[in-house]
Amino acid sequence: MNHTIYNHTDFAPIGCDDCNGCSKCCTDMGESIVLDPYDMYMLTSNLKLAGGMPATYEILTSEDGPLTLASQNGLILPCIKMVVDEAAPADAVGTCAFLNKNGRCSIHKIRTGLCRLYPLGRTYHEDTLSYFVLDDALGCPSNLKTPVKIEDWIAIPDMDAYEAFLLKWHAIKKSLQSAICEGASSGQMTMQTVTSIMSRFLAVFYQKPYGKDFYAEFAARVSLWEKGI
Ligand code: SF4
Ligand code: SF4
Repeated sequence: MNHTIYNHTDFAPIGCDDCNGCSKCCTDMGESIVLDPYDMYMLTSNLKLAGGMPATYEILTSEDGPLTLASQNGLILPCIKMVVDEAAPADAVGTCAFLNKNGRCSIHKIRTGLCRLYPLGRTYHEDTLSYFVLDDALGCPSNLKTPVKIEDWIAIPDMDAYEAFLLKWHAIKKSLQSAICEGASSGQMTMQTVTSIMSRFLAVFYQKPYGKDFYAEFAARVSLWEKGI
């Protein structure tokens, strides 16, 4: 199916009246809401947990934390947990660990890039990226779909810097996926090697807290990663 392609200064038919009490796209999402380093930076810099405890990678991904590690296209990445209430029936579906009792996002201002994007998808080109409206938008019940400027919808300051980061991050993941896939299929990479590469990947890009200048720090970590240090 052909999609209309947009850039971030275009208007797309995505407005849904502030979701009007609906939280369907925060429910039953499995392990699909994967965090990138910018998301981890936003959570660890801004989120205060019970008792005012600052969020760290270790706390967020602990057994009781709101995140877990999931396998996605051969890589291990942090993603948001879907949780099921203990009193719920056996066939109940999980809801996002950040969804509050009123069915609203408890981290709305610092929600992940994927949450900000929905119901848009992203397509990556060599040095640009574009947007399209997802087919069926995973069953979003809103029929409103008023035109909204995409950069206002995503609402992350400095979209040019953010998109440059996304492009680099996409390239790093793609290159690592190919290396692991080729190494594993040729038998040159053992499971132990893959595990050790993924541990280093998580340590470089996620575990250590980011300072105030995310983009400069991300660039430094890319250098570290590419040098293999
Ligand atoms: S983080 Fe917020 S917007 Fe994203 S799925 Fe969870 S509740 Fe919904
Ligand atoms: S499914 Fe649509 S209306 Fe419901 S929360 Fe998601 S974007 Fe909003």
